[in-house]
Amino acid sequence: MEVFNIKKFSLHDGPGIRTTFFLRGCPLNCIWCHNPESFRKLVGSKSCDTSESKNYGIDKIVEIAKQDLPFYEESGGGITFSGGEPLLQHKELIEALKRLKDEDIHTAIDTSGYADPDLFRNVVTNADLVLFDLKLYASKKHKEYTGVSNHKIIENFYQLSDNSVATYVRIPLIPKITDTEENLFALKELLLQNRSIRRLDLLPYNELADSKYKRLDINHEIAGLKTQNEIQLNQIKSIFEDVPFEITLRG
Ligand code: SF4
Repeated sequence: MEVFNIKKFSLHDGPGIRTTFFLRGCPLNCIWCHNPESFRKLVGSKSCDTSESKNYGIDKIVEIAKQDLPFYEESGGGITFSGGEPLLQHKELIEALKRLKDEDIHTAIDTSGYADPDLFRNVVTNADLVLFDLKLYASKKHKEYTGVSNHKIIENFYQLSDNSVATYVRIPLIPKITDTEENLFALKELLLQNRSIRRLDLLPYNELADSKYKRLDINHEIAGLKTQNEIQLNQIKSIFEDVPFEITLRG
């Protein structure tokens, strides 16, 4: 597996204490991306392929995963595969998920949901939990801000419900792009149709992304946006107050 980062003792990538493997490559090109080092193709002609990524065999992934077993057991944690988009490496991913299941280690996948529907089903049904990122309901805007339409993403979102795969939905709150009332009410209607959702994470904008883009010498099209203040965050949260699952506002 091509991995550009491994984060141990992660508390924000699923339940409990986790080890998160960040896999390289993403078919989307969100203008707010906080992991620009995961890109294969970057905005304009600049390339970020100088960022370090390393190839790990499945044995090595399992070995690293097992190093923190006592912490997973104590906290209800496990392993998360994030990115980039982990489904791009679906063959290795399925193998890793199966091996970790044999070791009785809880697994989660953090995905944009942008994948062929058959492939998506084959991967997610091998995981214990899916962290599904929903960004924009309107397909035109989705294409404008992420580079791809959301048709496959919505189809795959319904598949999670059909296949009863435990799901945490994550909505990145990008000022004036995804955090508008119009978008959030539309996404709420979509969420209410999925019976597999256990939790909704609303993710306030992280303005620290600007410095990362500067360091990597990549143009950041939305530089200068500010994190939502407490009043704005409470207004956003109130949109979802009557949904039948837990909501978190992660700052
Ligand atoms: S889906 Fe995630 S990793 Fe891929 S470009 Fe968008 S924000 Fe970045």
